[in-house]
Parts: sequence; structure tokens; C-alpha cells
Amino acid sequence: MKLNLNNSAVPTRENRLGSITGYVGDLNDLVDQSRNGTLKNRERCFSQSSGCLSGCAIGMVAAIRDVAVIYHAPSGCTLYTTILGDQLATRINTSYDTHLVGTDMNESDTVFGALDSVRDIVYKVKKQYNPKAIFIASSCVTGVIGEDIDSVVEELDEEFDIPVIAIHCEGFKSRIWASGFDIGDHAVLQHLVKPPVEKRNVINFKNFFESERPQITELFAKLGVTPQFLYANSTVEELSHLSESLATVCICGTLGTYLGNGLEELYGVPYVRTINPMGMAGFDAWFREIGRIIGKEPEVEALLQEERDKYLPEIERLKPELEGLTAVIGMGPGYTYEVARVLQELGIKVVWAAAWHYDYKYDNNEVPPALDYLQNTSPNNIELSVADQQNFEIMNILKQYNPDLYFSRHPGSTVWAIKHGISAVYVADEYMIFGYKGTLNFIRNILDTVRNRSFETNLAKRTKTPYTDWWYDQENHIMMV
Ligand code: SF4
Repeated sequence: MKLNLNNSAVPTRENRLGSITGYVGDLNDLVDQSRNGTLKNRERCFSQSSGCLSGCAIGMVAAIRDVAVIYHAPSGCTLYTTILGDQLATRINTSYDTHLVGTDMNESDTVFGALDSVRDIVYKVKKQYNPKAIFIASSCVTGVIGEDIDSVVEELDEEFDIPVIAIHCEGFKSRIWASGFDIGDHAVLQHLVKPPVEKRNVINFKNFFESERPQITELFAKLGVTPQFLYANSTVEELSHLSESLATVCICGTLGTYLGNGLEELYGVPYVRTINPMGMAGFDAWFREIGRIIGKEPEVEALLQEERDKYLPEIERLKPELEGLTAVIGMGPGYTYEVARVLQELGIKVVWAAAWHYDYKYDNNEVPPALDYLQNTSPNNIELSVADQQNFEIMNILKQYNPDLYFSRHPGSTVWAIKHGISAVYVADEYMIFGYKGTLNFIRNILDTVRNRSFETNLAKRTKTPYTDWWYDQENHIMMV
């Protein structure tokens, strides 16, 4: 990619990566169309509500320790962005002092603009909280009326002794909420990362909630390196050194592409592009590539053997009980194809996989590694769709395929499957299937779910869903024009 750090706005995923939110077909077709550049978005004639990229953009930077984020938006938008903030607050391991402040735009602000109030709020926030950096984020309303937050940022960045940074996250810009991850990364690359002074034995690790911080710190220590988790719990000072790290890795390709490719392009920090460390094959491939980049291949082989000795016998003992189960998956694209691979590794047949969007290439212009890998290894040509969490489509698919299990990373989707009587596994935590240990826990979780289905059965008997038989009978799962 060609990173433009002179502009505070980031091209959306639709423009930069050709990302889509509407597709129905199969694995071979999707990968082939991605490779030959013929993939096109298909529009729906009906669409439910979806997510907003501001939650992802603000969620990223609000995870940095001791900063303030001022969201120039009506209160409804601000409330939406606190959802991710809440998750951060409950999951991260140490306390931090970050503040999210909404400007509570009203009708008058919408007509006449409110940059003076924004300026006042920035002064008050600086005085009251003494943050290490201040981010000023825009919303749909500020975008529509053309509020020039860049001018306030420029003025105050010069005046203050801390960075003041614009975050252009108007929700209408993109249907793909993951564009918000790139917006957060862009702000960090543009304003916080400094050119390298000396190399450090650190690996940048882009993730969401760092719930496996102790395990990963311990595994990396065996290779003589320290992980720098991003962004939860990181400090402004730590971020300034990202250019000095040995490599960048991520838990999810959708989350990591902008920062990983950006650090490589700007400062030559290698970005590890393999399948993700989920399941056994992913863990092996990911660690081996890290070992190759940092010159620690023998140490990596020893680490992998240790993990296999510890967990593989029990994995092999339990696996036969999963053999032949069928599954539907509905997740973000960084997980859909990775989880499909893991399920196949465990003997589960994936009958349908839906991704909430699809980046047909990442920022290095290549098809995501998970798709490549899946096409080469999948025993069946999986039916696929791309839907920005259009739940009604998922319910139709579940009704028609009646799988043994539904896997989703979004609770709003999982609960509806359960109401239809289908056992669902909520793959909530990003590390739920991390490596051999995570795979074993994941198997146990699946077995707990399928061994006793009374909850789903009883709930379905007592639930009237809002969908009609007409919709369930439609063989076209996707309402495309
Ligand atoms: S920024 Fe726009 S899309 Fe996002 S919550 Fe506000 S109004 Fe909705």
C-alpha cells in the first residue's frame, strides 16, 4: 500500500482493498474471483441495521492508557462507542486512566457548527485529566456539516505539549466497520510512532483485549522476546517505539493489516503474514514464521514440541466425538475462514460460512492467507456468503441447513440461533482457540454444548421468531438485487 501520512483521513476498505459486504457463492469461486480481480459487491434489496466504524476507531485509541478521546457527535453515537470501551474495561488486566468525552451535539450545533465548544472541551479535558494525548473524533453529523476539526487539532497541537490528533470516523463513510481499525492505526502511525533509534527485542502484537497476556508473554520469553500488546494497556511512550521492534504480528488479519503493513512500509518492521495462530496448524505456521524472521527456528521447534507433548494426547482422545458434526459459521472475515479451518482440523463439516465483510486482498495486495490455505486444504467446496451481520439471512441458512452447531463471535447473532433450537458456541474471546491449549479448551466447550441440548430445545419451543414461513422457504438466502 502507499501510506499517506500527510492526510489525517484514511481511504475506506471499499476504496483501498475492494472490500465487499454482499456476496453468495462458494469457496473456490470467491478465491478465484479474488485472484483474477473480478469480484464485485452485490447490493441487497433489503437490509437490516448494521454496525458503525466509529466504535472500532474509537475503541482502538481509547484502549491506550492515559489518553482522552473527545467524540464530536450527538449523544447516541457516543453511547454506541462506549460498548467496546466497556469490554476493554472489563477485560484488561491493569487499571488505566483513559477518558471518553462526548460533545453532545444538539440541533443548534448541527445548524451552526460547534467548533468553539470543541475547543473549550479540549481545554477542560486537558486541565482536568492531564492526558498523555488527546484524540478528537468526528461523526456523521460533523462530517455532513463540514466541521473543520483538523483546524482545531492543528491549532491545539502546536499550543499543547502533548499530541492532539484528529480521528475521521464518520460512520457513513464505509459499510465496513473494520475501516475503523485502520482509522485508529493511521492516527497512531501518523502522530505517535517515531522513527527508530535502536532495535529492541520486542514483537508488536496487535490484538483486541489481551486476555492471554500471561501465556503469550511466557511463550515469547522462550524465544527471548517481549510482546508489545496493542493497543489495550499500551502507553503513548511505548507506541513511540513500535518502529524499533523485530516484527509485527496480529491475532486477526482484519485487525492487523493496516498497522502491520504500515510499519513495514515506513520503517521496515517485518509483518508476519500467515494463517492466524488458531488451532494447531495455525499455531505452528505462525510461530514458525516468527522464528524465521527473528532467527530463532530451533527455539520455535522446541516450543511447538513442548505444546504438543502437553496437549495433543488429550486433543486426540476427544476428537472422535466431534467427527461428523456439521456447522454454520457467522463471524468477521478475520475469523470465519480461520475457524472453518480449525473445525475441519477437528473433523467437523462446515456446511456454510458467512463473513460480515470480505477484504479480497490485504494491504500487501495479496488474497488473505486464510482463504488460500482453506482452498488448498478444505475437503469440500464450502458454501459462503458475505453479509454485514444481516441476521435474517443467517436465520434462513440455519433453518435450511439445520446444522449441529452454529459458531459466531457476536452474541446478537448467537442468541437467535439458540432461539431456533440450534446449539451455538459463542467464540467471544479472540484467544479462545489459541494454539494447542486453546484448541483443547475449544473442544471441551463444543462437547459441553452438544452433549446437552435441553436449553436450546426448550427455548425454541417457547419462542416465536419474527420471521415468517415465507422467508424460511426462500432458497435464495440472500436478498440480492
Ligand atoms: S457516526 Fe453515524 S453511523 Fe455512527 S453511530 Fe453516529 S450516526 Fe450512526
